Amino acid sequence: MRILLITVRPKLGLMLTLAFGLISLISAVFYSIAQAPGQPESPAPLSNIRIVVDPGHGGVDGGCSYNQFLEKSLNLTVGRILADDLTALGGRVRLTRSQDEALVPWGTPGGSRHKRDLAARIQTAKDFDAHIFLSIHANAGPAHLGGALVFFHQGHEESKRLAGLIQERLEKLVPGNQNGILPAQFMVLAQQQIPAVLIEIGFLTNPQDREFLSSDAAPDLISKSIAAGVTAYVQGEQPAAPTLSPYPAPQGDDPDLSPALPYPGCLVIDPHLPINTIEEALARD
Ligand SMILES: [Zn+2]
Repeated sequence: MRILLITVRPKLGLMLTLAFGLISLISAVFYSIAQAPGQPESPAPLSNIRIVVDPGHGGVDGGCSYNQFLEKSLNLTVGRILADDLTALGGRVRLTRSQDEALVPWGTPGGSRHKRDLAARIQTAKDFDAHIFLSIHANAGPAHLGGALVFFHQGHEESKRLAGLIQERLEKLVPGNQNGILPAQFMVLAQQQIPAVLIEIGFLTNPQDREFLSSDAAPDLISKSIAAGVTAYVQGEQPAAPTLSPYPAPQGDDPDLSPALPYPGCLVIDPHLPINTIEEALARD
């Protein structure tokens, strides 16, 4: 018995030594992999940032259009992808709409349906206690006007910084003679205290813009540019030197409804709706 113990104990000791050695070796390898250059452990860049993404228009409100190309549909496609991209970066995201719908139905009492629709978008940000508000739109105008531009809440410096960081990325995708940032007092910007921007991703009425905006790749590329601008904003970056767009900034609640420019492609009512529905909507709005 004594002989057996003497024989077993050294084997146990050897096995334990080998096991500890193996565990130490595995731990060291994992630690070195985790600390390898190029793979630093860091929190997601938008962790704990609450962002509202607002695809402009929807439902009866088609926004701008060029033939069958409707602004409300493009806004929604970009908005959905942007929500996913911002979420992948660690952000908490809420969409004001995730389908083709108006936020306020027709015929409900309380004045202009359009203004109440805009108020509902603002309320979404308040209910979510959002840090950042991004409204997605596409523009229309005379055919020679082109490019992406970003409106910011006039007099709100953080909105201006956010606009500059988004614009300097977006204008590489949608270059044009209207590129730049602009102050505005649109309702969805002016009635918020948080950094709020309204992004016009290009002109549906400009041939060069339209070719890009209608491509399969555009929504994803636009979304990635906006998400990169938001990330740069959260990380405290300053835009290089944002230029002011020459675009004649509309005055009023919505950039698409201003008489500042002739907007041949901007329709308040979705042209795909039956004519009696359009008349009914116009009568009630
Ligand atoms: Zn619009």
